[in-house]
Amino acid sequence: MNSPSAPPIPFFTQASSFDRRWPQISGHLNALFDRGKYSHGRQVVELERMLAAYTGAEHVLAVNSGTDALVLLLRAAGVQRGDEVVVPAFSFAATATSVSLALAKPVFADIDPESYSLDPDSAEAAVTDRTTAIMPTHLFWQMADMTRIGQVAARRDLIMVEDSAESIGMRWDGTHAGLLGKGGVLSFFPTKTLGALGDAGAILTNDPDVAELAGILRHHGRMGRTTDHIAGISNLSGASGTNSKMDDIQACVLMGKLPHLDDDIARRAVLADAYTERLQGVPGVLRLPTLAKREVPADPVYYVYLIEVERRDELVEHLTRQGIGTEVYYPTPLHLQPCFADLGYRRGDFPNAEAACERAVALPFHHDLDEDTVDRVCDVIRTFYAGSRP
Ligand SMILES: *Cc1c(COP(=O)(O)O)cnc(C)c1O
Repeated sequence: MNSPSAPPIPFFTQASSFDRRWPQISGHLNALFDRGKYSHGRQVVELERMLAAYTGAEHVLAVNSGTDALVLLLRAAGVQRGDEVVVPAFSFAATATSVSLALAKPVFADIDPESYSLDPDSAEAAVTDRTTAIMPTHLFWQMADMTRIGQVAARRDLIMVEDSAESIGMRWDGTHAGLLGKGGVLSFFPTKTLGALGDAGAILTNDPDVAELAGILRHHGRMGRTTDHIAGISNLSGASGTNSKMDDIQACVLMGKLPHLDDDIARRAVLADAYTERLQGVPGVLRLPTLAKREVPADPVYYVYLIEVERRDELVEHLTRQGIGTEVYYPTPLHLQPCFADLGYRRGDFPNAEAACERAVALPFHHDLDEDTVDRVCDVIRTFYAGSRP
């Protein structure tokens, strides 16, 4: 039984993993300080090379966040002002706000309840003659059904880009997430599987034109070293470039951590299995992470450990009182977010997305976690449901 005096269990911390990687990170930082040039320098280029080697992408563009990576990718891939882009109704806000920021219109579709990712049938039903792109999201530990979504994109002649912000390390028949269509993104937000010391992200693409345009857009719309800020390249929506470059400091941190990523991913799989073993059959727990049936089998890469439960909000409150942190991914479906109120969606439009928002909760999870802590969290959950049942 958990006692109130037990140490708190944060949802996320990375202090000890930073400690372990500090020798490598500080080596890169010292090299940066010694060079004395701190803008878009050698460290960013080096990181891009390392990420290209890790993912197999032909082009990697390091930027300042996963969100900016999405906006620049959509624009560089050819999405134009006023176009419709099909996105899932259950995801982080940036999946849809990036479409608005690219001056296009997000059109929502439901998710498949097992993978939490874009449902191919619902996505196809959302396509109109104004739709030019489709953006599946890969959430939590597995990818969307890229065989069937790829078929929808081909049938409807849509640009396919991937919100692969959470999916570093995930592969579809050997191809890294983000590289199945025109391109994808990575987020290095601190809680992500590969986290920086602050915001950072990247664009992945095998398309040289997308890479060139995204590179121009991330640097004020400047062509090479000239100071001409190009306005209207024919297939750029909106006129202006922006400043979305990654800081060299974040590149140093990520270069220090990337060589250990596969070990970290392996450790996360062990921890996820430990949770699953302990939560199997616990009354009140409705769904544990599973792998959706796919044509292409793939190992999970756990970014978060998320379960669905009865009386989710009460459980969260109970865990909080016991000093155990949780996160609700995601509390509000995107079609019901205030910023999309003018699009006219209603509750009931996407039942799978809405159900996930009501029942899902993510448990403490990071590669510094240990099995004893997993035990404690699971004990508290078991006790909560045992104590509250007739
Ligand atoms: C984290 C995340 C983003 C945004 O990345 P940032 O680096 O936080 O801007 C976009 N989409 C999804 C699915 C994410 O999880």
